[in-house]
Amino acid sequence: MCWRCFSNSNISHPEAPLEALPGASSRRGFLNHWGAGLGLAALVHANAQAQVDVGQSSSMRKLIPAESLEQSARQQYRQTLGEANSKGALAPDDYPQLKRLRAIANRLIPFTAQWNPDARKWKWEVNLIGSKQLNAWCMPGGKIAFYTGILDQLQLTDDEVAMIMGHEMAHALREHARERLAKSKATSMGLSVASQLLGLGQLGDVAANVGTQLLTLKYSRDDETEADLVGLEIAARGGFKPEASVQLWKKMLGATGGGKGQPGFLSTHPSGNNRIQELEANLPKVAHLYEQARQTPAGTQLN
Ligand SMILES: [Zn+2]
Repeated sequence: MCWRCFSNSNISHPEAPLEALPGASSRRGFLNHWGAGLGLAALVHANAQAQVDVGQSSSMRKLIPAESLEQSARQQYRQTLGEANSKGALAPDDYPQLKRLRAIANRLIPFTAQWNPDARKWKWEVNLIGSKQLNAWCMPGGKIAFYTGILDQLQLTDDEVAMIMGHEMAHALREHARERLAKSKATSMGLSVASQLLGLGQLGDVAANVGTQLLTLKYSRDDETEADLVGLEIAARGGFKPEASVQLWKKMLGATGGGKGQPGFLSTHPSGNNRIQELEANLPKVAHLYEQARQTPAGTQLN
């Protein structure tokens, strides 16, 4: 998962090098293969009432213009993919695990716009990077990456992948990066929130220079809970089994030794068990969405 969420975990391997993918020679023209198709898919959205309760997004985020931040994210995404590509670690379009990720994304994207209307205009992209990192993220504007480490080490099912992807999409939809950057900048400038909101307008130059910060931002526990619940609902609407969210976190805890009282995940992320409880409490709210999605023939669920 986003190693923002797992940055202290001893299995996230944040420094793990890129690894060439077997059979994946350097990908040419990777910049424009896929986003356009999903952009169209994103135009269709579910006009449905949210079932999980996460409240309003923070108004602080508006201090940073979304477009400027998304442009910065696009540049950082290209740079990350370019680096992977140069090492043969960027999965080509016909790579089976990448096709699987994109098929899952295609089932989730129609249900994103209800969480952020601007997402209708996003050019979603999903890519797979060869690395042992237990990692996945979605940058502002819908730029997603998974690392082979998280798929391989946790032996994720499609339902579990959908929960991670929904969680990461939710961070982008709820604009948690935009909010974090706005808050940290306002604080570092010694300015009160009120003076920012009343007098100084947007912090456009901040968004233009965030670069790699987007890969290392730490979200708050509230952000993580929001992402868990919004992701759960998006995945359920896409026809992925809600219980997989709980299963995923149990796997994650097991992989880090947290369940055995070892130092590691639980010591640095004491919310691990709490988030399982939170997810379990929300399963009944989304169960009917999952059943509906399962009973709707593919291709007609987007009305
Ligand atoms: Zn997260």
